[in-house]
Amino acid sequence: MALKVAIVGRPNVGKSTLFNRLVGKRLALVDDRPGVTRDRRYADGVIGDMDLTLIDTAGYEDVTDESLEARMREQTEAAIDDADLILFMMDAREGVTSLDRIFADRLRKVHKPIILLANKSESRESGGGVGEAHGLGFGEPVPISAEHGEGMADLYQAVLAAS
Ligand code: GDP
Ligand code: MG
Repeated sequence: MALKVAIVGRPNVGKSTLFNRLVGKRLALVDDRPGVTRDRRYADGVIGDMDLTLIDTAGYEDVTDESLEARMREQTEAAIDDADLILFMMDAREGVTSLDRIFADRLRKVHKPIILLANKSESRESGGGVGEAHGLGFGEPVPISAEHGEGMADLYQAVLAAS
């Protein structure tokens, strides 16, 4: 069975971009599985030679501020429950935010492998934004650029080591 990998983190860090990259040509297989909330997406994907089932958490665009945190929590909880491994994504350019810390506080209680990703790290131009990332409690982040496809070999190695 394919490893189930959830991509979680605050809005706009690049979760869906990574999801789409790893799903690639298999995007056609994206579907709403029975009982799955409208805005949690599942799809078959691949990294290196490893088959994955990817879980994207999304759908915050239309919600009001009051419901954002509850919605986010619900989506993240469901994805965490279902996953074998969790990719916790932050934005290397913006550095650690208070919302990242809220995710981290929750994820530290999860007894599943968690890999911290510092996305938007293309061309080493992230301005030291990951300095505080270690303090989130998941070790040094793996720098990647979901948009440009950089760091995918390191991500593969991290997934291999953690799974
Ligand atoms: P999500 O809300 O976490 O799913 O984030 P999205 O995947 O929708 O991406 C949010 C924004 O970040 C979009 O404008 C993306 O094009 C941009 N983005 C995603 N990955 C990267 C990256 O590696 N580098 C840069 N510079 N931008 C990125
Ligand atoms: Mg998204």
